Amino acid sequence: MNEKVLKVLREAEMVLIGIGSEFSPAMDEENSGAASGTNVPDEENSGAASGTKVPDEENSGAASETNVQAGAHNGSGQETDASARENNGAAPAGADTRLLELCRLSRYYEELPEDCAAIRAYNRLRELAGAKPYFVVTLNTDDLIYRSALEDDLIVAPCGSLSRMQCAEHIVEAAPIRDAVLAEGDVQKAVCPLCGKPLQFHTVEFPGYLEQGYLPQWQKYTKWLQCTLNRRLCILELGVDFRYPQVIRFPFEKTVYYNRKATLVRIGSRFPQLTEEIAERGISVCEDPVAFLLNL
Ligand SMILES: [Zn+2]
Repeated sequence: MNEKVLKVLREAEMVLIGIGSEFSPAMDEENSGAASGTNVPDEENSGAASGTKVPDEENSGAASETNVQAGAHNGSGQETDASARENNGAAPAGADTRLLELCRLSRYYEELPEDCAAIRAYNRLRELAGAKPYFVVTLNTDDLIYRSALEDDLIVAPCGSLSRMQCAEHIVEAAPIRDAVLAEGDVQKAVCPLCGKPLQFHTVEFPGYLEQGYLPQWQKYTKWLQCTLNRRLCILELGVDFRYPQVIRFPFEKTVYYNRKATLVRIGSRFPQLTEEIAERGISVCEDPVAFLLNL
């Protein structure tokens, strides 16, 4: 199988790479808590904790009404979360828990060493691309790819980044804010340094996601993709599942369907299957893509 994949790469003129969730390291809960050294309440207790913490009982009724109104007026969940947080009221404990969880995850990614498996696998990809024109689309928000040898301006990450936070209009660096939140286990610290409004992580998971963060790179990518027409294109799809299939999985299948000189190499431990239409121009490898690359 390795030989087959290497042969496709060798014979290709251009390389298109898609990266999915199997490339994002899972956080080891025990270690991450110890590493961050914070008093963030743990998962099981956080519901109870925020329940006991609600201080101004009188306001909480009003607060939840405001939330509903905010949500109804602008249809933005971002604002709804935000006003809930401002009022510290009948709060969406789930949203606060999620923010804390992502703060820990963001720091976990940042603290991963340069020689972690994912970064080494990205470096291997860079080697494999060699001098061929390549482009990378990633669904991941861990930003580890930017610490590899792959060129930043040949990467697009449409799902956002856990290294950044956003209010409704500004995108800011997450690290100082995230660390302040974690130091006190207090999501109220997550406010925009530019306008004072509450922040969320800059990822597609949240309503109000500011797409201008990735659009310039996306335009570059679509232009690049046009140039692959009638070229021998190797499409490497690595660890992509069915989340956001309109970003990588479906368009990659379409590309290989229309470009008769393209080959799709789909590697994943869970969903490596190929559709019938492209089966003869595809290679399916049922393996963890990081491990596969490190052995290639
Ligand atoms: Zn702002």
